Amino acid sequence: MFGVRGIIVTMDEFLRVLWDGVVIVDSDSGVIVDVGDESLIRDYGVEVVYGDSKSIVMPGLINTHTHSPMSIFRGFVSGISGFDWLKRVWSLEAHLKPRHVYVGALLSIISMIKSGTTTFADHYFYAEEIARAVMETGVRAVLAKTVIDLYEGPPKHSLKDSLSFAEKFFNSNGSLSTMIGIHSLYSCSIETLREAVSVSMDAGIPIHMHLSESRDEVKFVKESYGVTPIRLADDLGILKAKHLLAHVSYVMDEYELNLLGKFKVKIAYAPFTKMRGGQVIAPILDLMIRGASVSLATDGPLSCGDLDMFREMKFMLAAQNLKYGSASALKPIDVIKASTVNAAMNLGFQNLGFIGRGAKADIVVLKAWKVKVIPIKDVYYTILYCLNGGDVDTVIINGKPIMVNGVIGGVDEENIINEAMNVVGELEDLTIKP
Ligand SMILES: [Zn+2]
Repeated sequence: MFGVRGIIVTMDEFLRVLWDGVVIVDSDSGVIVDVGDESLIRDYGVEVVYGDSKSIVMPGLINTHTHSPMSIFRGFVSGISGFDWLKRVWSLEAHLKPRHVYVGALLSIISMIKSGTTTFADHYFYAEEIARAVMETGVRAVLAKTVIDLYEGPPKHSLKDSLSFAEKFFNSNGSLSTMIGIHSLYSCSIETLREAVSVSMDAGIPIHMHLSESRDEVKFVKESYGVTPIRLADDLGILKAKHLLAHVSYVMDEYELNLLGKFKVKIAYAPFTKMRGGQVIAPILDLMIRGASVSLATDGPLSCGDLDMFREMKFMLAAQNLKYGSASALKPIDVIKASTVNAAMNLGFQNLGFIGRGAKADIVVLKAWKVKVIPIKDVYYTILYCLNGGDVDTVIINGKPIMVNGVIGGVDEENIINEAMNVVGELEDLTIKP
């Protein structure tokens, strides 16, 4: 057992904040056994205590949509979005080997842990390689093996492959779970989409897919099927099935807003990538009001950069307040919920995303007593406005101290960087040089 001390931002049902509180963690079961004041240190006789009275202690952040191996493509493509971006990316991915995926995933996982993300939902090819990196590092993840069947280039996985991967690891242990990875309405055939809904319902495993993410998608789906993406998703039964839908940027009318609310759709919202791509700001506040469940995401590291969820939280707050012309359309607490407790629910986890007795012990400790931070009056304000991933000091996942004082145990970062640069060199040789 060990303790974690600081300003405890619980994100529990009462949204309690304990100024100079303590969390007691049982490392064997990976569960939080108590939360209270500093007397708990003596009561439980714990000898190891992470953090101090001036640290901020909060639930680990949950990134609900990314493509972790794409870190190896950082900077290969920029200044375009929509189908132009995808065509360029798919031509790069035509050269992918399983080893590249493993190294890229490892690079991203280290980056996520260092910036306070303890769980991520991934969507990519050769997902077994990502599972290997997840198990080696101790991070928590929900993986989906991507199916694309309308385009040549990226690795070909059939729906059967994606399902068998999902079934193999679905709720397989405390830290790894899966979904079925359908890329999108525009990159999979209508037969594959129908079949995906059917197998998802039979297996009880959610579909993770992109939906209504770009102007190009809206145009393609309208031309191909005579309806908008959201109406097509409804016709196919995707909204009714278990799902996790990335983006949902283009919601065409009141009917679609109400439809998404009625089915309480689970949306992974990644504001930065859509804003930098010149797309649109999704009507997140309208969707939340109608009952949609919104969680935060970065999207892949080629489109978002460094996977820092603190940066993404700032974009979510600013984007929505700008869209709705109000300084309080969303409040910091709404954004932190979308990155912790609501994100855990969107990924199907119980007892995750908050600090309380019986919750899974995924906790981050931030050094907050800094010139750029003080004074700490409203801790939610502090988290949103003043902190970033670089302030994360200690990370506990599943009750295990994975990073302490900025150092991830058992990980040779220098070696991983060298490996990654070898992979980047190989890909440059294959894709850039003639
Ligand atoms: Zn994506």
